[in-house]
Amino acid sequence: MTGTARELIIAPHPVLTAQALPVDPADPLVVSAAADLLATMRRVRHCTGLAAPQIGLGWRLLSVDVSLHPGARSCAGELVMANPRLVAASRWEPTREGCLSVPGLAGDVLRATRITVRGERPGSGAPVTVDADAFEARCIQHQLDHLDGVLFLDRLVHSWAVHRMGPTVEQARSG
Ligand SMILES: [Zn+2]
Repeated sequence: MTGTARELIIAPHPVLTAQALPVDPADPLVVSAAADLLATMRRVRHCTGLAAPQIGLGWRLLSVDVSLHPGARSCAGELVMANPRLVAASRWEPTREGCLSVPGLAGDVLRATRITVRGERPGSGAPVTVDADAFEARCIQHQLDHLDGVLFLDRLVHSWAVHRMGPTVEQARSG
């Protein structure tokens, strides 16, 4: 299914701080939203992942594609999941990250560098399990936070661990 790239929602906005709702992965509206999420992710430069609230939908859907990111080790390619949940997380490390919905800022955030996430494939509803590490793990955790209305600014290792985004940090953007 071909999706339509949508406008990105920028903070502050109520959809970015709300708890997103579980979805029926077989619902045609959910399938279409997943396609829109992918289309938006493909269109935005340096975008390695998005969550449905970032395109204005309070639904538990995320997309990730870290294949072009220098910090990636594991890479599931272009991934879209409904109702994703973290089932394992280990080896926590602080790293700088940013967010397309919080332009111009980056922050140091503690994330697990190894995770397992489970969800469902939009359309078939087939279960999906992804083991990720390094940047892909960080990016997935960043998107999971969006589904709980949490921004990286809520997770800074210190209140002063926020930085203006420079050209190098641009690459660290998690979506
Ligand atoms: Zn984000």
